[in-house]
Amino acid sequence: MQSTEVASPGADPAAPPHTVVGVTNSVAATFDLLGDRLTLTILRHAFAGRARRFTQWLDHTGAPPAVLTARLAALVDSGVLERSPVPGTPDRFEYRLTELGLATWEILVCVWSWQREWTPEWALLPEFVHADCGHRGPPVLMCTGCGRTVTAHDTDVELDRDALWHITSGRRRSGRGTGPARGDAQFDEIMEAIGDRWSAAVTGLALAGVRRFSEFRAALHMSPTTLTERLTRLVEAGILDRSEAGGRDYRLTPRGRALFGVFAFLLAWSNRAHPQSPEPGLLIRHRECGAVLIPALRCRGCEGELGRRDVRFEVPVRGSRDVPD
Ligand SMILES: [Zn+2]
Ligand SMILES: [Zn+2]
Repeated sequence: MQSTEVASPGADPAAPPHTVVGVTNSVAATFDLLGDRLTLTILRHAFAGRARRFTQWLDHTGAPPAVLTARLAALVDSGVLERSPVPGTPDRFEYRLTELGLATWEILVCVWSWQREWTPEWALLPEFVHADCGHRGPPVLMCTGCGRTVTAHDTDVELDRDALWHITSGRRRSGRGTGPARGDAQFDEIMEAIGDRWSAAVTGLALAGVRRFSEFRAALHMSPTTLTERLTRLVEAGILDRSEAGGRDYRLTPRGRALFGVFAFLLAWSNRAHPQSPEPGLLIRHRECGAVLIPALRCRGCEGELGRRDVRFEVPVRGSRDVPD
């Protein structure tokens, strides 16, 4: 993937952020909401149809009640979940995925796919099976504009420096819970890359082809200390490699590059969730057809497009794990 920067005329990358208050960049809001292990755990159980009522969410996530309450409320506010009274018991409520919530499915599939390929727990994760053709294994990405299969190498990323600024300069919209949720240790490794908007912004820029410390610094509103700390953590997490040749240079490892699908779907979902928002600052374009990438999942076996009703997750080993099905 190559990046081109579309800086606004006269934009000064060193200028102080003057519109921080009240501005929430849509991509930042998306990472605040979805780059969270409890949220991913909630979504996983929602897709599996295991939980609707509060007590069921408590059982399945193990989260402290106050934290869970706040997270469910944030998901309702964001239009991902819908809260409605349980029929016959008007003082009790249940939470269901909305259309927008259902549209997070591809993100979860890419998270699963990455974990299965790049973390030690892969053998415990369920296999992805295309029901129609029986193919087992992770899907690939396709561009819905032209129907071709697409990887990070086939795309260009356009960065708007002014808009990117807001990804790391805005205030968090909602606080994150501190209590660990049972069973979501499986999201530990991916959280290093998407678990907060700063790490996500750095990883996203690396996917866009940014390599030099000075380039990261120019694109993001981060102190050199914070940026160094983020880069170091991403190196330790095996997402980036640091090379000393000719200055400080950071490149994605194959493991880091494999996060492309997660980011492509997060960005597409963000655009869908914030149709009125100003430019998100980040645009992925499919080089071959020139269209802004609207990704879809495709079966590697039959090349068919995959929706959530077309696949099943099969647990390949004994000792059933808590997994999407
Ligand atoms: Zn295309
Ligand atoms: Zn297939």
